[in-house]
Amino acid sequence: MDLGKLIQERIRDVDDYPKPGVVFKDITPLLADHVAFAGVVDAIVNHHGRGTVDKIVGIEARGFILAAPVAYHFGAGFVPVRKKGKLPSRTHEETYDLEYGTETIEIHVDAFEPGDRVLIVDDVLATGGTARAAAELVRRGGGEVVGLSVLLELSFLHGRGKLGNLDVHSLVTV
Ligand code: 5GP
Repeated sequence: MDLGKLIQERIRDVDDYPKPGVVFKDITPLLADHVAFAGVVDAIVNHHGRGTVDKIVGIEARGFILAAPVAYHFGAGFVPVRKKGKLPSRTHEETYDLEYGTETIEIHVDAFEPGDRVLIVDDVLATGGTARAAAELVRRGGGEVVGLSVLLELSFLHGRGKLGNLDVHSLVTV
């Protein structure tokens, strides 16, 4: 079966989550299907090619689930970007706007060797604020961002436009 079609079939729309008026794209049915999950991991690795990156950054929390197996299959290290206050050692932090309020994410200051080639992995690209902040954290940490891979891009929110010339690879766009 076509991977794009399978992904769309396994992502569930949940109305009014996390608040009224929002339709949340729930990826848990996809993760529970081993063919779909493995297909997604393989597609991300194959798109970039083994040996092209040194570190995979995963964004808390669903990004971790995809980024860890991608890192394993790439033969690359895994680096977490987490919500403020969750990482134990010294961090860089970036704050960005959400629809209501702000969010702050962090990365360890020593997460990279100078010049490490870094691929950022997350589940969904929506308004792009999270990905832009994560890319900035990688740069501040001394890494070189080679791209962003996401399972699903919500193109009507124009997140890609916030990311400058970053190479954005989405498996499915709606
Ligand atoms: P953005 O910063 O691009 O607006 O939002 C992207 C971040 O929020 C990602 O880390 C993603 O996990 C989460 N997110 C936003 N909307 C959704 C959604 O509908 N489904 C899922 N699974 N995650 C979402």
